[in-house]
Amino acid sequence: MRIVFLGPPGSGKGTQAQRLQEELEIAHLSTGEMLRDADHAGTPLGREAARHMQAGQLVPDEVVVGVVADRLSEKDCERGCLFDGFPRTVPQAEALDKMLAERKIPLNLVLALDVPTERLVDRLLARGRMDDNRETIHERFRQYDRLTEPLLDYYRRRGILCMIDGEGTPDEVFSRIRRAVDTAIR
Ligand code: ADP
Repeated sequence: MRIVFLGPPGSGKGTQAQRLQEELEIAHLSTGEMLRDADHAGTPLGREAARHMQAGQLVPDEVVVGVVADRLSEKDCERGCLFDGFPRTVPQAEALDKMLAERKIPLNLVLALDVPTERLVDRLLARGRMDDNRETIHERFRQYDRLTEPLLDYYRRRGILCMIDGEGTPDEVFSRIRRAVDTAIR
């Protein structure tokens, strides 16, 4: 099972992805987490990523694709994986298609969390991570609309997109996700 999880900043994507990963027992690949780990470890890649993250900008495609390619070669990914926060641009989606094709594994489902923008800003400000300040948040939405939104059409055309209403309690949202996954694997 290979699932891509899409959603704007603050949509609850990280929380829901974590729960789904525990339930399906597949590897959880959060590029945001991997990049933050690299930053904390102080590697050159981490330092480069942090510059972009702090400005609310996307980390360059080749950097992120490299990180994901390395991670995909690890043993636990054989059982399946949940891509959380990747791909975020059309070139990243094309790179993912290529990586999966090389391994002869299909992408089964793309879940896209749908939450009205006005909800998102409040959630982000409440969370307060280093990149959660008004200016950065504004830039992240701009990047999402410009670079990530087009992925919805990319996957809709492939017939694997499933939009999930992201409003309500975490439990309500999770049960919608469960239903979508059950339908997709049946
Ligand atoms: P959020 O969904 O709230 O933006 P993430 O942890 O997914 O949180 O991402 C945080 C930051 O990490 C992004 O704003 C971006 O700078 C960087 N990042 C994460 N994933 C990617 C990716 N696939 N491509 C480019 N940049 C990424």
